[in-house]
Amino acid sequence: MFFQDVKQGPPDPMYHLKVAADQDTNINKVDLGVGVYRNEKGQYHELGVLKAYEITTGSPEFLQKASQVIFGKDSEFLNNGQIASVQTISGTGAIHIGALFLRNSVPNLNKSIYVGTPTWGNYVPMFNLLGLEVQTYNYYDKETGEVEFASLLAAVRTAPKGSTFVLQACCNNPTASELTEQQWRTLAEEMTSRGHLPFFDIAYQGLGRGLDEDAYGVRHFASLGSEMIVAQSFAKNLGLYGERVGALHVVASTKEAAAAVKDQLRCMIRWEFSSSPAYGSRLVDLILSDPESQAKWHVELREIRERLERNRQKLFHQLANVHKHEQTPGNWHIIKRGQGLFSLLPLTPTQCEALKRDYHIYVAPNGRMNISGLRESNINYVAQSIDTVVRSS
Ligand code: PLP
Repeated sequence: MFFQDVKQGPPDPMYHLKVAADQDTNINKVDLGVGVYRNEKGQYHELGVLKAYEITTGSPEFLQKASQVIFGKDSEFLNNGQIASVQTISGTGAIHIGALFLRNSVPNLNKSIYVGTPTWGNYVPMFNLLGLEVQTYNYYDKETGEVEFASLLAAVRTAPKGSTFVLQACCNNPTASELTEQQWRTLAEEMTSRGHLPFFDIAYQGLGRGLDEDAYGVRHFASLGSEMIVAQSFAKNLGLYGERVGALHVVASTKEAAAAVKDQLRCMIRWEFSSSPAYGSRLVDLILSDPESQAKWHVELREIRERLERNRQKLFHQLANVHKHEQTPGNWHIIKRGQGLFSLLPLTPTQCEALKRDYHIYVAPNGRMNISGLRESNINYVAQSIDTVVRSS
């Protein structure tokens, strides 16, 4: 148990004052507390169409719906009050606050964080920024484009008891490799038996196999009663990049521990950025409150998944057919394997540079390609250019 000994944070008089004032229904109420301009009606003054003030921990309606997206409507933990959820500055903000919480508020935690590589370039600098020690291990098989499960298990088995493992729940960035459901179950068993803490990052839920399917790992760990941290983003699956809408969920083993965790998170947010932007979370809340909009969202996500899958197939076939019977040299079948937005192509940094310099094709230096950038009008050009660059280097 990690979160059982988390203490309440020092009280923030302004936070408690606002909560108390908001809850006060007395007709004589005069709220002179929070430093926001109010109008003659005593309401927060909204300029034009803008609405812009939330309590420190974010909109409760948004948080309830966001946690249902991850954990499912019938989640026992959610209904028992065992999940401390706060609104964050998108997924990056959720990871940051989650790591800050681990560093500052969890007394009995081994402070090393395990990150499988290759991975999203932000984890290591973000954790280092907070003075956390990052341990890396390989989890990816370049030949097959799949998870090298034995390496992942070896890292779990050799890490000191009570270590934190960052796990991308779906649509891995950059490898697109996925754990099978059986592998999630084995991993959960191995991790819980060693008292390790999963730190889930779920930035692409719905872009892989489906909203529920992409949360399989998280829900399975939860079903075993595992404490966990989940960093959630709505940047990609609702196209809210610029609005920075996300949430951090900490699953504790009791309702009381979750309340103390939430209080710690409130402090971190208050001291770092005071409160999260309101607009985007209201959009999420609107969509998730309306069955018709929700259904539309599901359809759009399905269309996105289908297009990504078609693009994977097409690029693979184009590369296979550039020179009729002579496939472009390289291990291109991995393109078809992955899920989500990315594919980690077998291209060297020099080849990626040549694609940019000579063909204006921009691929990350490690070969990571955003599959959604391929279109009917450019896919052949991309395949031809890759073919030329690969053959000439
Ligand atoms: N995690 C992964 C793996 C990502 O790829 C990203 C975005 O690129 C994030 C988290 C954070 O996304 P955001 O802060 O835009 O929600």
